[in-house]
Amino acid sequence: MRAPDSGDARQSLWQQTAGQAPAAPVLAGSVQCDVVIVGAGITGLSAALHLSESGLRVCVLDARDPGWGASGRNGGQVIPGIKHDPRAILARYGKELGEPLLRMVGAAADTVFELIDKHGISCHATRAGWIQPAHSLRALETVSDRARQWLERGAPVEILERDAVSGRLGTDRFLGGWIDRRAGSIQPLSYTRGLLAAAQAAGASVHGHSRVTALERSGQQWLARTQQGATVKAEHALIATNGYTNGLWPGLQRSVIAANSFIVATGPLDAQAYGHIMPGGVVASDSRRLLLYFRRDHEGRFVLGGRGHFADPVAEQDWDHLVRGARMLFPELARIPFTYRWAGRIALTRDFVPHVHQPSPNLHILLGYNGRGVALATQMGRCLARSIAQGEPMPYPVTPITPLPFHGLKRFYIALGVAYYGLCDKFS
Ligand SMILES: Cc1cc2nc3c(=O)[nH]c(=O)nc-3n(C[C@H](O)[C@H](O)[C@H](O)COP(=O)(O)OP(=O)(O)OC[C@H]3O[C@@H](n4cnc5c(N)ncnc54)[C@H](O)[C@@H]3O)c2cc1C
Repeated sequence: MRAPDSGDARQSLWQQTAGQAPAAPVLAGSVQCDVVIVGAGITGLSAALHLSESGLRVCVLDARDPGWGASGRNGGQVIPGIKHDPRAILARYGKELGEPLLRMVGAAADTVFELIDKHGISCHATRAGWIQPAHSLRALETVSDRARQWLERGAPVEILERDAVSGRLGTDRFLGGWIDRRAGSIQPLSYTRGLLAAAQAAGASVHGHSRVTALERSGQQWLARTQQGATVKAEHALIATNGYTNGLWPGLQRSVIAANSFIVATGPLDAQAYGHIMPGGVVASDSRRLLLYFRRDHEGRFVLGGRGHFADPVAEQDWDHLVRGARMLFPELARIPFTYRWAGRIALTRDFVPHVHQPSPNLHILLGYNGRGVALATQMGRCLARSIAQGEPMPYPVTPITPLPFHGLKRFYIALGVAYYGLCDKFS
């Protein structure tokens, strides 16, 4: 029962610049604890940290090294909110559920930066804001309306004219946009390893290379078995495997589409490009459905990501579309080589929002961040911990697992989606 792979992360900028990984030895023998967590990404580690701080005994198991999945490979953009706008959330969930949900997602970036401060996580955190630049007039209306909705809720956001966007990004390809000052950036693998160290310091035991091959009921408890034959018994279990979800729980893998996101990065920019490209340290992702996200890292490298094909990347050309995209936005990048190329799996849901499931007593599942989970996975892991440890209500709807029809055709869905959204982007 192998988790779907997603290429080699060795060429990842983050792998090559992250701080030392705390030890996470393979699990041996039999363990008894309060909560067993499958998956040591941001979701699993944030939950582990907050559960351990509440005094519960936690055991986290990952099939690879902690942070091996999307959490250690992403663009490092810490963006609050959820893909749907406040008005749409309230229309969909009503005031009673929608208001706490909006407060929770709106504060997601605050939680990341608070944890970084509290635990002294060294991950090159900056908080210069996130810009969503508009690629078309229609998109400009949409993002301006989005900004107004967050403004009405008191969020520190601002609508930006075309010149203000060009000045902050260093490209005149966009028609305007908005900035959300709650947002910022991190080195994602260092952040994930920082969460790991904080969880361990709070008492959690975390084990790498300990793939869970079965999760079953044993009396009133959950029993997780690893591929090496070790076992963990616990009152609660959390599955936090997102885009690397496999057949561990019936129907779960078929409830999301695991798609690749690809990234490229240059070496440190020369002085001229450094002074021009995103000079204030903002991060950005554009308004297209097949969006590009971009930023500089702490040493002035330019990092840009976007869609990839369904299959895992094999050759350098698999990233060519991103290099072309980067050079279209910033022509000065034509003289600067792209040194790093890597990819990772995101989990897409039918309704573009994360899913919380509790298909059996004390079994919790959090997944489906739709490519925006750095802040949200941190926040949802914390909320789940509070709900388990303190009985606080989860500020998010719990839904049944609904497998997507014809999931076996996901490769076809993705190709069709890419073609369709590409067309929409062209004509919107
Ligand atoms: C290339 C890329 C760029 C992105 N950019 C951004 C961004 O800039 N901002 C943002 O907000 N979001 C971004 N995201 C999304 C974000 O990274 C994810 O939403 C988030 O990291 C999900 O965290 P997670 O802990 O739920 O899952 P993951 O980090 O994917 O962790 C899942 C873990 O489960 C483990 N696992 C799977 N099956 C088993 C098993 N049977 N037993 C044990 N372990 C198992 C895997 O080994 C893996 O480590 C990006 C994602 C990618 C891939």
